[in-house]
Amino acid sequence: MSTSDPHCLFCKIIEGKIPSDKVYEDEEVLVFKDIHPWAPVHFLMVPKQHMASMAQVGPEHAALLGKMLLLAPRLAREQGCNPYPEGGFRILINTGAEGGQEVQHLHIHVMGGPRPWLRG
Ligand code: AMP
Ligand code: ZN
Repeated sequence: MSTSDPHCLFCKIIEGKIPSDKVYEDEEVLVFKDIHPWAPVHFLMVPKQHMASMAQVGPEHAALLGKMLLLAPRLAREQGCNPYPEGGFRILINTGAEGGQEVQHLHIHVMGGPRPWLRG
């Protein structure tokens, strides 16, 4: 169904070639725990279709990105983030080298849980 890049780490996770600690999956989206968490809760949301970053998105991706953003609060609560406003969570999308992006497959970081955090 979707495009995949054979050299991409997250495409390999999506295809099950590299294991991940899965949080959620549907036909379009995979969510798994970050291997080096910054916070008590830290997971990554990725589109199953390979796209390098937010620099490549267009109007055709609006529904997918909207769906992922709407999913984030629900999964944050399910994964242990405390309720707003005392709790909450952080949503982060690093984009490009100067944006701090290390893996070139678009991913949404969701972080939360009691402070202090390792980073951020
Ligand atoms: P970024 O710097 O925004 O590109 O974030 C990449 C994230 O992917 C980092 O937070 C890494 O800890 C995480 N990461 C790298 N390899 C894996 C992996 N095999 N499973 C889960 N998370 C990973
Ligand atoms: Zn990919």
